[in-house]
Amino acid sequence: MPTFVYMTRCDGCGHCVDICPSDIMHIDTTYRRAFNIEPNMCWECYSCVKACPQHAIDCRGYADFAPLGHSVRVRREEDKATISWKIKFRDGREKNFVSPIRTTAWGSIKSPGDYAPPSADAMKSQQLAHEPEALKVDALPALSPDRFKQGLV
Ligand code: SF4
Ligand code: SF4
Repeated sequence: MPTFVYMTRCDGCGHCVDICPSDIMHIDTTYRRAFNIEPNMCWECYSCVKACPQHAIDCRGYADFAPLGHSVRVRREEDKATISWKIKFRDGREKNFVSPIRTTAWGSIKSPGDYAPPSADAMKSQQLAHEPEALKVDALPALSPDRFKQGLV
């Protein structure tokens, strides 16, 4: 579902322009309000929706579930740490979904720079960074060679 902007809510701050990975959120030079210049190229990542402090960006619901008369509102509510979706069907039914933004406290995740640099041997390992300790296991499960198929019989 590509996005569109409610011009009356937008104040032209440009956060959506800065964050859009598809570079399709632009500021109209006459009205100084944002708009999606090419909905067909929208990744539907909703980074702009989440970044907009004015809750000015909505989604165009696809016609198969939300034809004429529908609305899809998505709001990032940082104080509640939730993303909520309100989907209104054209027959008046509403569906509301609320999801947590994250499952850990803000600031509780270390940045890569906070970890000690990996050793040169780590390049030869099949494990990803911080495995297995970050998974809170002693070792990752692995198949022993005798469990591999030895060929067709
Ligand atoms: Fe750009 Fe993503 Fe917003 Fe689409 S949903 S306009 S790709 S930021
Ligand atoms: Fe307008 Fe929201 Fe984009 Fe700011 S982030 S320019 S208020 S649509």
